[in-house]
Amino acid sequence: MPRAEPESKVSMDTLIMKFGGSTVGTTSALTQVLSIILEEHERWKRLLVVVSALEGVTDALIEAARLAQLGNRRGYRRIAATLRTRHMALAENLPLGATERAVLQADIDRLLFDMLDTCQALADRRLNEDYEHPEHYEAIVGVGERLSARIVAALLRQNDLRGVAIDATDLIVTDNVYGNATVNIPLTRERILAHLQPMLDRQITPVITGFIGSTVGGHPTTLGRGGSDYTASVLAACTNAKEVWVWTDVDGMMTTDPREVAEARKIPSLSYDEVAELAYFGARVLHPRMVGPLRERDIPLRVRNVFKPREQGTLINREGERDRVAVKAVTSIAGLGLSARRRGPLAGITRLVDDILFRTTGSHTEVMISSQTSGESFVCFVIPTTAGPDALHTLRQALEDELPETPEAGVWTARPVTVVTAIGNRLDQLNGLTARLFASLNDIRILAVAQGPSNCTLSFVTEPGDAEKLLLQIHNFILNSD
Ligand code: ASP
Ligand code: MG
Repeated sequence: MPRAEPESKVSMDTLIMKFGGSTVGTTSALTQVLSIILEEHERWKRLLVVVSALEGVTDALIEAARLAQLGNRRGYRRIAATLRTRHMALAENLPLGATERAVLQADIDRLLFDMLDTCQALADRRLNEDYEHPEHYEAIVGVGERLSARIVAALLRQNDLRGVAIDATDLIVTDNVYGNATVNIPLTRERILAHLQPMLDRQITPVITGFIGSTVGGHPTTLGRGGSDYTASVLAACTNAKEVWVWTDVDGMMTTDPREVAEARKIPSLSYDEVAELAYFGARVLHPRMVGPLRERDIPLRVRNVFKPREQGTLINREGERDRVAVKAVTSIAGLGLSARRRGPLAGITRLVDDILFRTTGSHTEVMISSQTSGESFVCFVIPTTAGPDALHTLRQALEDELPETPEAGVWTARPVTVVTAIGNRLDQLNGLTARLFASLNDIRILAVAQGPSNCTLSFVTEPGDAEKLLLQIHNFILNSD
């Protein structure tokens, strides 16, 4: 008998559950994942599971693809061997029957052989034609999700569910911004109706690869780092899902990154706007582009901890907007500060920085803050988390090369900065809150300050060396104002 959950008695229709890399990488976490899926399978009419690659696997694949581009065969083969050992060990240790295990191990081998072939193709291309091959690169980087989807599907079948691993390359249609693609929702919906809906109607539980898609022409793409969340939100939009649950290894959206600050606390509820800002300004839990499709259709999102399945985690929906005025969270994100000893239009430099970042990472940047005095200008750009951890370094190097060659942009000096952002509800309302927040900041050199137009953010630009102190002071302010 399906057991109804109090808050969604009306129609237990479609639920999307996404499991992050930290929840599919170990036998103990996978045991939790399995029991969660078994339980929710009883409650919902249709259940779609989305998985990330095992933690660290996408980083390794990116490295393999880079080595292949450089023609370093030993390098990418070594990575493939390590990935094989890791996935095989997991397959070995999971409670699977002999047949299920043999099929899974054969799948792992096949996928990694495919990956090696693609690396080889990329390495050969380099020798002959010396140009980049984004679709080869994307195929390599997206193998991690194909592997983890097979692992989870095998586990479901072993437990009498109709689990089927599905490669989202056949479903999710994207633009051709390789490395950071955006989904075409109408085209994706057509494919889902044609290929996925019939499976759902036959009580199959699809285990869908997060993060990957393909262009209309069939070339593989990826959705930017952390893109599996975005896959889950697109699937929700295309199936009229009732809710999306993102399962991770922390308690929900937190007041700050719990890996950095042990005192971080869970935030019970947030609005879509607050979550979009949190993701944009560096909270690594969610992909920034996942919020849009959910907000448009009013689909609630929960962020939950697989190790605490009885707890509700953080609920994100429209209601969150009616919460009291408060600072709820603080984030920090890498940025690039550019200064010039003159004032004048900033369009040239803005275009140059955006062009370089887009060319090197597929991500666009935005001017976070710009300020000018009588004789000086300062512009600060934020580097989106979806661009990956090396983006700032790549951008700086490219800028150093190109600034001297682009006199129309002016004479600028670049330096890394950190943008620390306080996020909350209706921060524009004059209730002394921001004054108290400012008053709580001590001994920190702040280079610039900006309140965001959504009225949910107050950002401080600071030297990277001061960022931790600033973040802790704002975090203490949050904890003390409860
Ligand atoms: N595996 C991909 C990444 O590491 C996507 C994801 O985890 O959401 O970025
Ligand atoms: Mg993630």
